[in-house]
Amino acid sequence: MLLVMNMEGDVLEGEGRPSTEYKLHREVYRRRSDITAVIHAHPPKAVAFTIAGRRLDTGLLPECVVTLGNVPVAPYALPGTEALPRSMTELICLSDVVLLARHGSVTAGTSLGEAFKKLEKLEQCAQIQLYAEALGGPKPFSSREIADLEGLRGHYGVNSRTMSFGEA
Ligand SMILES: [Zn+2]
Repeated sequence: MLLVMNMEGDVLEGEGRPSTEYKLHREVYRRRSDITAVIHAHPPKAVAFTIAGRRLDTGLLPECVVTLGNVPVAPYALPGTEALPRSMTELICLSDVVLLARHGSVTAGTSLGEAFKKLEKLEQCAQIQLYAEALGGPKPFSSREIADLEGLRGHYGVNSRTMSFGEA
């Protein structure tokens, strides 16, 4: 069921009650005038990394470097409260993709398809890193290889907001 809401949190169209997590969506729209689609999800493998206190390295695969960049993790915040959107306010200004510790993800774009692709890539990164861990641990790209991949964004028309791998 889809609901149409205004920025005050009133339901304009649709039946039923909105998820308490609509506040996450609203926070992204408030902070990012360039964004027109937001997906909040609970991708299990990506979230597992935040629970284990392990870094999900989105710099291990070419398409993840290009599409996602260095994905930041927002600190844990109580679901359904104002603390949750607040926990990722700064990070969503820097990156279209943010992991929420012990909770889920927020991916933003200019269409639902674009936001969904970022979500899918994020979970794919987590799955492949888990496989690589089982095989003795991933071997990272060199910083030169990362820089070359970041340089391809323009070529592929990727205009996502991403953090570089030099940033924390
Ligand atoms: Zn959630």
